[in-house]
Amino acid sequence: MPNTPDQYQDLRDAVRDLCAQFPPEYFRKVDEERGYPVAFVDALTKAGWLAALIPQEYGGSGLGLTEASVIMEEINHSGGNSGACHGQMYNMGTLLRHGSDAQKRTYLPRIASGELRLQSMGVTEPTTGSDTTTLRTTAARRGDRYVINGQKVWISRVQHSDLMILLARTTPREEVRKRSEGMSIFLVDLRDAIGHGMTVRPIPNMVNHETNELFFDNLEIPAENLIGEEGRGFRYILDGLNAERTLIAAECIGDGYWFIDKVVAYAKERVVFGRPIGQNQGVQFPIAQAYIDVEAANLMRYKACALYDAHEPCGAEANMAKLLAADASWKAGNACLQFHGGFGFAAEYDIERKFRETRLYQVAPISTNLILAYVAEHVLGLPRSF
Ligand SMILES: Cc1cc2nc3c(=O)[nH]c(=O)nc-3n(C[C@H](O)[C@H](O)[C@H](O)COP(=O)(O)OP(=O)(O)OC[C@H]3O[C@@H](n4cnc5c(N)ncnc54)[C@H](O)[C@@H]3O)c2cc1C
Repeated sequence: MPNTPDQYQDLRDAVRDLCAQFPPEYFRKVDEERGYPVAFVDALTKAGWLAALIPQEYGGSGLGLTEASVIMEEINHSGGNSGACHGQMYNMGTLLRHGSDAQKRTYLPRIASGELRLQSMGVTEPTTGSDTTTLRTTAARRGDRYVINGQKVWISRVQHSDLMILLARTTPREEVRKRSEGMSIFLVDLRDAIGHGMTVRPIPNMVNHETNELFFDNLEIPAENLIGEEGRGFRYILDGLNAERTLIAAECIGDGYWFIDKVVAYAKERVVFGRPIGQNQGVQFPIAQAYIDVEAANLMRYKACALYDAHEPCGAEANMAKLLAADASWKAGNACLQFHGGFGFAAEYDIERKFRETRLYQVAPISTNLILAYVAEHVLGLPRSF
């Protein structure tokens, strides 16, 4: 176990106990069937882990992002994949930070109990991609309703969620001072929406990740489902994205440790040319380098968590943690695959599955280049590049 004991050991032990009931074989089977890990997500919900960030007054456990990130890390370190459920953690934060009292009282206790799932967030669009402020989905106020028209792509877990947070433009771009203004976020009740103005088209993809194209054709939602103030939705989404990036950094760190555990054990026992392959420096060094990178990413992850939990700005740290952790887990995944030789490609070793799963985080939820552009502009003060 390469990560040293810390003050979250009790939490780690409890999550590990639950994960032990869902070993890598379970996730392998789900992956082969292109299914959804229903039993795992149910168990996680029942144990209260997905309500970690919900305050106790709303039925959750009132933990911080740091603890939430430890939960996600442990799932991935156990050989599982948090991608099936991590949305609940950070989407709920948007509701908690920007929702009205009435919205919080209506939804949070039911999310905490598992009666409602808030697993989805609809931001990305096919024509605009990373250039979010040019999105084309619109929400027009008509009396006590908003009417939604447009299209989204890559929206995850819609088929396993009851609610979705949706970003749409409420004021045309030409009528706002800054392009980040005039967008709003809404809570969409998927049970009412699907088939009544909203259509879902699943996207088969490289990872076993339930993700979809969404089409909105005069979908009507109650005006009271607007979260926060109209026009300020982009800022609210960015707030939530810091939590998302930090949690995903923790998942990559869990992946990184999993790959390193696995390859270290194999390199000690696999004998070729009369000695363990791990005795060769050509094998040792890439593994040691990946481990150093995971450890370094871990420090940035805890820094981002601490700032978020203290309600301090953490955009730079959350982005840097995500980039460092995604790079480190990718490096660890490459070393693990490489030093298993041909066996790394066999599904029964779980390496090729974890390799695909961790590769996603070079692109989603934000691509590595966009993080570099963010740091260049917002941290280093270089001229805006786009
Ligand atoms: C499995 C999966 C699940 C997802 N789930 C969700 C979800 O639940 N909700 C949601 O809203 N979105 C989701 N996404 C979308 C994801 O956030 C986007 O794919 C990601 O932000 C990249 O956007 P894009 O695909 O439009 O790429 P584009 O913006 O088209 O960019 C393509 C590539 O070009 C490069 N690039 C673009 N612009 C620049 C630039 N200015 N400088 C340098 N390089 C640049 C980047 O390397 C980028 O990878 C998901 C995606 C995947 C694959």
